[in-house]
Amino acid sequence: MIITDTHTHLYSEAFDDDRDAMIKRALDLNIKRFFIPAIDSSYTKAMFDLEKAYPKNVHLMMGLHPTSVKENYKEELQYVETLFKERAFVAVGEIGIDLYWDTSTLKIQQDAFRQQIQLAKTHKLPIVIHCRDAFDEIFEILDDVNDDYLFGIFHCFTGNLEQAKQAISYNMKLGIGGVVTFKNGGLDKFINQIDLSHIVLETDSPYLSPAPYRGKRNESSYIINVLNKLSELYNVSPEEIANITTANSVDIFKI
Ligand SMILES: [Zn+2]
Repeated sequence: MIITDTHTHLYSEAFDDDRDAMIKRALDLNIKRFFIPAIDSSYTKAMFDLEKAYPKNVHLMMGLHPTSVKENYKEELQYVETLFKERAFVAVGEIGIDLYWDTSTLKIQQDAFRQQIQLAKTHKLPIVIHCRDAFDEIFEILDDVNDDYLFGIFHCFTGNLEQAKQAISYNMKLGIGGVVTFKNGGLDKFINQIDLSHIVLETDSPYLSPAPYRGKRNESSYIINVLNKLSELYNVSPEEIANITTANSVDIFKI
C-alpha cells in the first residue's frame, strides 16, 4: 500500500525546525508520494532544495497562487512560463481564484487563471485548482476553456454534491483533505455518492489539519486520518482507498 499526498507544502517555513523528522513520520506510514504546489517565485528555491533532498518522493508543480496575484503578476507569470521552458514539472498549480482574502484583485486573478490554464494545455499538463469563495467564478472560466486538454485536480474540494459533479464534468478529480473529518464540514454527508475513481487524497500541509488535530499545524502523516475517514464513509478498507487514490494520482500526474 502506497499513500499519495497530492497537495502538501513541505517547503513551508512552518517546517523549518523539523522538516526531515516530519517527512520521515510520513514515509514510515507508507506515505511515499508528495506532490508539491507552488505559490510564487519567493518559494522556488525552497522547492528545488526539497526536491534535491527527496528526489524519489517529491514531485514539483509550478504556478502562481491566486493570493499572490498582485500588481506584479505579469512578471510572475513570465517567470513561471520561463521555468516551464527550462525544466519539467508535474502540473500547473496551484492556480485559481480566492475571494476570501481579497475581492479587489478578481479581474487580475481571472486573467492569471486563464493564462495558466493555457500554459498547462500547451505543455499537456494537469492544473491544480485553488478555489475559495469562488465556485461561480471558477466554473465560468472552466466552462469557457473546457476541451479534451483540460484536466486536473480541484484541490481542497469543499463544495456540495452538485458542485462536485460539475467539477468532475470538467475532467477534475476532487482533492479530499482534512475538511472531510470536520463535523460541520458538509463533505461527509455526500462524498460517498461520488465514485472513488474521482477522488485523490491531500493534506494541504501545513494548513487544514484533520480532526483530531484541527487548528494545529498539519503535516503529511495526518493524511492517515483522512484515509480512515473515507474508509468509514465508503465502507471500503483503508488499503483499497489508498490503492485507488494513488492510482488516480498516477492517472493525473503521469508519475
Ligand atoms: Zn495549497
